[in-house]
Amino acid sequence: MKILFVSPEGLPFSKTGGLADVVEALPKALAAMGHDVAVVLPRYRGTKVSTIVVPSLSIPMGDTLRFPAVADGAVLNGVRYFFVDDPEYFDRDALYTTRGADYPDNGERFALFSKAALEIAKQVWRPDIIHCHDWQTALVPVLLRAMYSGDPLLRGLPAVFTVHNLGYHGLFDRGVLARAGLPASLFSIKSLEFYSRVNYLKGGLLAADWITTVSPRYAKEIMTPEFGHGLDGVVRDRAGRVVGILNGADYSLWDPEHDDFIAAKYSAKYLDGKALCKKDLLREFKLPEKSVERPLIGIVSRFADQKGFDLFAKVGSELLRENLSLVALGTGEPKYERYLRALASHFPGKMGLRIGFDNALAHRIEAGADMFLMPSRYEPCGLNQMYSLRYGTVPIVRATGGLDDTVEPFEPFSGKGTGFKFADYDGRALLAAVRTALEVFRDAKAWRRLQLNGMAKDFSWKASAAEYARLYEAALQARIPRAPAASN
Ligand code: ADP
Repeated sequence: MKILFVSPEGLPFSKTGGLADVVEALPKALAAMGHDVAVVLPRYRGTKVSTIVVPSLSIPMGDTLRFPAVADGAVLNGVRYFFVDDPEYFDRDALYTTRGADYPDNGERFALFSKAALEIAKQVWRPDIIHCHDWQTALVPVLLRAMYSGDPLLRGLPAVFTVHNLGYHGLFDRGVLARAGLPASLFSIKSLEFYSRVNYLKGGLLAADWITTVSPRYAKEIMTPEFGHGLDGVVRDRAGRVVGILNGADYSLWDPEHDDFIAAKYSAKYLDGKALCKKDLLREFKLPEKSVERPLIGIVSRFADQKGFDLFAKVGSELLRENLSLVALGTGEPKYERYLRALASHFPGKMGLRIGFDNALAHRIEAGADMFLMPSRYEPCGLNQMYSLRYGTVPIVRATGGLDDTVEPFEPFSGKGTGFKFADYDGRALLAAVRTALEVFRDAKAWRRLQLNGMAKDFSWKASAAEYARLYEAALQARIPRAPAASN
């Protein structure tokens, strides 16, 4: 099968979150299964390309045309990469935001990107399946069924749309349709219209052949008002076409046995290296050497409501009065950055904070911490808890979305389970889960058991990629008219 991924970000070229990890690992896993896979990404600042495949596409945008080039980024891990090269739109400091706010022309930028991706599917690399990701590419299925519905080359091309986070809609004023050269007829309740505004994600949910999301639990949750962000009705209408497929962890990048970022390699058989990683991490955050005896909690996150920082902010001080240390890495909402800075300065010697995006440090936290905290309000899948399990770093999570699907509560009597979970979105519940973890930590034997249970889990991409392949196959079969039965 020829599968064309269209995504606003993907490693090793661009990343703001877990989507980028997925768009690196899933194509790689599909290619390893023998599929022919290509990925279309925007050419952001710093992306190197090898050749220009199409010097100029003509993309209608309102009453003008834009002329992005298509660049070839060569083949990596068996996957072909193409970039939509429009410097005015994409050669910027960041991917989506400037000084904490969205770029005002995001609607136009990603309309252009989606249209260019469809032109690539026509002119450069013709797929059997097109697989789009998040609101930035939601117009691909919309346009396939609208402007391109009569195109003999693209007509009937099955579109799979993966929602990595239903909380981000791509919501714009109505004028974006004219500015982005989108048909006014799309401003309908059956397509992009959402409370008098234009909602790209909604259009994608309605137009895609199949909708996938990144864990089975989240697939159910997004049909409820609590997790639906106003789109639960739309998702429910398409319930028969919604599938939850758990993201995998790419163990070629995230495994303490082969991780070059960490101070000492280790595995379930030789866990000694983990203690060295802890010392290294304490040193990195200038926490006292003697605190090595205390349990160390790690956080790597976007500092946002979604990730549970409002909850954390309620109990942070109380948490830090426990016999523990805490290191946190992340960026996000200024109010949470301020709060965490204040907390760290209030608990010198117990808390280390790094505001920023630092992949190497993320690896060192996974390796050096004893526990990993993810108190998310909602979590479509979450990757860090899966990485944590592999690193023998016990996850403490809220039981939601992929966190609930991947972490099993530890039962001291049976010795089964991989982490600690709490259900209520409540500071007391968070504290209680941490306190339970601290108690188990005091029992070295039980803790070792818990670590080993987690390290033995396999969340590699193999099984999930096979599920996607089955879905593509089903989408393809549904589109191909059946040959008449042979008569004899
Ligand atoms: P989301 O996509 O919602 O942010 P995920 O858990 O799915 O959350 O994926 C987050 C990914 O981004 C993980 O690979 C995590 O290690 C990484 N990450 C998040 N924040 C940082 C940071 N400040 N520095 C380095 N890596 C980060």
